[in-house]
Amino acid sequence: MFFCYNLIVSTNDKIIVYESKLEGTSDQYERLDQAIRTGRFVRNSIIRAWIDNRVKSRNDAYKHCAVLAKDQKFPWAGLLNSQARQAHAERAWAAVERFYRNCKAKIQGKKGFPKFQKYQVRASVEYKVSGWKLSECRRYLNLTDGFKAGTFKLWGTRDLHYYQLKQIKRVRIVRRHDGYYAQFLIDHKREETKELTGQQIGLDVGLNHFYTDNFGNKIDNPRFLRKDEKKIKRLQRRLSKTEKGSRNRKKARNKLGRVHLKVSRRRNDWVCKLAQRVIQSSDLVAIENLKVRNLIKNHCLAKSISDAAWYRFRRWLEYFSGVYGVPVIAVNPSYTSQNCSNCGQKVVKTLSTRTHKCPHCNYVADRDENAAINILKSALKELSTTVGRTECQVSGEIPLCLRVETLSSKVTQRKRKSNQ
Ligand SMILES: [Zn+2]
Repeated sequence: MFFCYNLIVSTNDKIIVYESKLEGTSDQYERLDQAIRTGRFVRNSIIRAWIDNRVKSRNDAYKHCAVLAKDQKFPWAGLLNSQARQAHAERAWAAVERFYRNCKAKIQGKKGFPKFQKYQVRASVEYKVSGWKLSECRRYLNLTDGFKAGTFKLWGTRDLHYYQLKQIKRVRIVRRHDGYYAQFLIDHKREETKELTGQQIGLDVGLNHFYTDNFGNKIDNPRFLRKDEKKIKRLQRRLSKTEKGSRNRKKARNKLGRVHLKVSRRRNDWVCKLAQRVIQSSDLVAIENLKVRNLIKNHCLAKSISDAAWYRFRRWLEYFSGVYGVPVIAVNPSYTSQNCSNCGQKVVKTLSTRTHKCPHCNYVADRDENAAINILKSALKELSTTVGRTECQVSGEIPLCLRVETLSSKVTQRKRKSNQ
């Protein structure tokens, strides 16, 4: 099975991202590799110049791009479209700014000092409004800068017809283990109407279940997560047995990469549909504000897979929140499982205690259900004390520079089409 185009969650709800696979020759792919490498070169050069104190502002970074392009030592730098060079200067500067911001906020631990990027299969080059051209029928993409990558066939881009060319603000060429993709960043705010349902929902995440809501409904983790986990483990073992630098190692790595892609696509598809269902059936959604970054770093595979699913789920919730106008509120996770949702007293329990029994008011409930009620309650409380604050500020813990991965969501597309 291969899906042709995808909707991708973007950090900005005024931008829609569509993705389609690029079909070309191996020579063309080679040229895309060169463009991607050059994008990285520009970014790294600017980080270098910043460390050496030659670049001190965003403007300096732009200027440095022009210097690089003229430098005889780097003949390839001038081949990349000038606006694409700027886009990569922006990426570099964003890393610097993030570091400054973290220092200013005096966050604990690492401040994220900008690093040089190394070669990775998953990488991209970003064009703005020039350096590329869509054909009249919008089925072919021509890259017109100095790398002369030429014309690629786009797999299924009928959707692009719906938008004006000038709405396409950026085009990203993304390399993955299974090929090359073009992402179109389209300036469009998606809005859909929704009836009031009179239901407010609080969600508690757990390892045993994907989530439990305040009515006691549990959504199980999909079984394919477990199956995929086994498959990944097997391929990882195989990879570790191959010799470094060998052909077999390259093959094994590619295979593992493809499985990872497949897994993440399937997972994303599942959480996207779930998130849309949750948003459509509620007028307010309350979740725990978990620090996803810390979660994803853990070494237990099962847990990291479910964390990633939860994280993606949250992103989709926030996306649909904007589409349907349903607030999603992320609350402080402390004490949500310990406090009694009926009387508010603290009832200490260990992780293995599955039932909440309150000695103060005799309230008995499932542990997760009790937590979900607490989450909903504190969200409502937070809402009442933060009049004037926008939703995204309340749930603004999401790091902005996340790798966007494909999210297959035919459902949402069909939905959008039917509403046109
Ligand atoms: Zn109680």
